[in-house]
Amino acid sequence: MYGAHLTVAHLSDKMNISTNLNPLCFFPFFKASSSLAFPYLPHKSLCLTTVDDQNPSTMGYIQKTKNVLKCVLLLPVVLCIVYFTGPSVRLMIGLLPMQRCTLGSAEMLILDNAADARLDLQSRPDVQTCTSWRAPIIWEGMFDPDLYDQIHRKQGSSVALTVFAIGRYLDAYLEAFLNSSEHHFMLGLPVSYYVFTDTPEKVKSIKLGPQRSLRVIQVQRHTRWQDISMMRMKTISDTIESDIRHHCTHVFCFDVDQVFTGRFGPEALGDSVAQLHAHYYRLPKKLFTYDRNPKSQAFIETGDFYYHAAVFGGSWKDVKALTEACYKSIMEDKQNNVEALWHDESHLNKYFWIHKPSRILSPEYCWDTSIRNRTDIRVFRLLWAPKHYNKLRT
Ligand code: UDP
Ligand code: MN
Repeated sequence: MYGAHLTVAHLSDKMNISTNLNPLCFFPFFKASSSLAFPYLPHKSLCLTTVDDQNPSTMGYIQKTKNVLKCVLLLPVVLCIVYFTGPSVRLMIGLLPMQRCTLGSAEMLILDNAADARLDLQSRPDVQTCTSWRAPIIWEGMFDPDLYDQIHRKQGSSVALTVFAIGRYLDAYLEAFLNSSEHHFMLGLPVSYYVFTDTPEKVKSIKLGPQRSLRVIQVQRHTRWQDISMMRMKTISDTIESDIRHHCTHVFCFDVDQVFTGRFGPEALGDSVAQLHAHYYRLPKKLFTYDRNPKSQAFIETGDFYYHAAVFGGSWKDVKALTEACYKSIMEDKQNNVEALWHDESHLNKYFWIHKPSRILSPEYCWDTSIRNRTDIRVFRLLWAPKHYNKLRT
């Protein structure tokens, strides 16, 4: 690439190629790495200068000034394009059709429980309400919330919620996450919080409702944020084995950088529960960011959906199997000196490709409000909190 760059530079001396619209000309200091940062840009990005054979210094100076002026005048145009492209692309993505559920009635679903047979799969013609392997995708309007409350109370369901708040994530997010969960998460069922942190003394006490308890468990702080995120799989699996399996029927695992804003109830409970990623549920599969490195255990060529690792759950048995398998794959990758593109999320997507989830949650259950104008999101149940990676990550 560097060779090509030189050749074009040489030609442009003679041909007076100085006015192309490569945005790099606004930032000449990027040029050295331009082939890496902007591989799609032509490398004859030489708005810098040309040399006139007759009067090199004067002509060169005039040409340079002209170029600088052009760049300055074009800057607002480029900024406008950048500013408006994001929102309009997102708007257009919202118009892409989802696949349709082809089942005639909910009785044809593989049921997680009796209430699922009463799901109204036709009530949401704007979205996909079941998968090809006959699992429901839960959207507002499809279910009777009271029925799920009753059935799970009768069945004696109880839920463990695991959340990690390590390093600066504790101060930034934990309190708001737990307080909001007390208002919206599985109200009416026994809930046990398992908070994993490196600084237990910093966890503030939260006012808990009846039948709700909280345990703080100290864990090691890994140096890299990628390891903090990935090693959650091991901790969850160990804690299910040593504790959760004796007290709870189900487990839900959450990122801490989110806030509950609406009902997140027992309609979300099932044997193996995956979350549709808010940014991908309407995109064509080709654009899913699965791990594409054949050397990684997370490698997949294709999948069903792109799932978000910020929310997953299921029966304690299924979540134990999932977390154990993902941890094993993560460690194999480490031994082979590779790391999956999106860390634990890549491994989770591989796992759910092989072991289909029995239930999928719509993006209402984990929404990013920076995506606007989506009429299919009828209720916000859990929202992404603002991310401040620079300040928070180690
Ligand atoms: N996490 C943490 N401390 C860190 C990094 C991550 O506690 O320094 C935990 C936290 O629960 C966080 C989760 O790991 O929500 C996943 O990381 P993050 O939210 O940064 O990932 P992203 O949402 O960008 O995928
Ligand atoms: Mn997160």
